[in-house]
Amino acid sequence: MFLKLVFALSMTGLAAFSAEATSAATMKELNSSKMPFTLPALPYAPDALAPSIEQITMEVHHGKHHKAYIDKLNAEVLEKKTEKNFETLVSILKNTKQFSAAVRNNAGGHWNHSFFWTIMAPESQKSKVSPQLQRQIDAAFGSMDGFKEKFEAGARDVFGSGWVWLVKTSDGKLKILTTANQDNPLMDISPEAGTPILGLDVWEHAYYLNYQNRRADYVKNFWKIVNWKQVSSYYQEK
Ligand code: MN
Repeated sequence: MFLKLVFALSMTGLAAFSAEATSAATMKELNSSKMPFTLPALPYAPDALAPSIEQITMEVHHGKHHKAYIDKLNAEVLEKKTEKNFETLVSILKNTKQFSAAVRNNAGGHWNHSFFWTIMAPESQKSKVSPQLQRQIDAAFGSMDGFKEKFEAGARDVFGSGWVWLVKTSDGKLKILTTANQDNPLMDISPEAGTPILGLDVWEHAYYLNYQNRRADYVKNFWKIVNWKQVSSYYQEK
């Protein structure tokens, strides 16, 4: 972390430094983040996920798309002074009915992307699923392959822009859910509730530069860069 900060300072000056917090390592940390929201630094270099996801896609996705959600969220919530009882990011997600569509979309966009960066890692740092999570995957889907097949089908079935999620339900079981736009299963408007432990962005902006219309290839290559250690840790988190 120290090196990252020094690097940011020396390269781009104080303004850039203050805009980049480190990415959250726990869901609690992400959920409890407060306004004004800031762009978390990627937990790896922007070229580290290539060739599954190329550098240019990561730079635009993180630096432009994700940043835009944050800027709009801050503007919407702060300017309209609706923040009083909804201090944390998760409290906004759990009360989207009380906010404008813009808040719902941009709060979702911020949470979803902050989470998404953490569940990926360079292929060279491949990690394993914990035995506890593997047991639940086997119970819900028969096997890891069975899970991947269903998750890929979920990604395929999202019409237009959205996300596919692996969620933990309140009884610790696993389920695959899909959401449209920047919605997620933590939101009060979600037809099915759950805590995401893995998620995949299937908006075209997440893959179009390298894969064009080949969403299925993007999803296949995603498996090479899943950070199973982090996913397992999200599964364990209370
Ligand atoms: Mn995205």
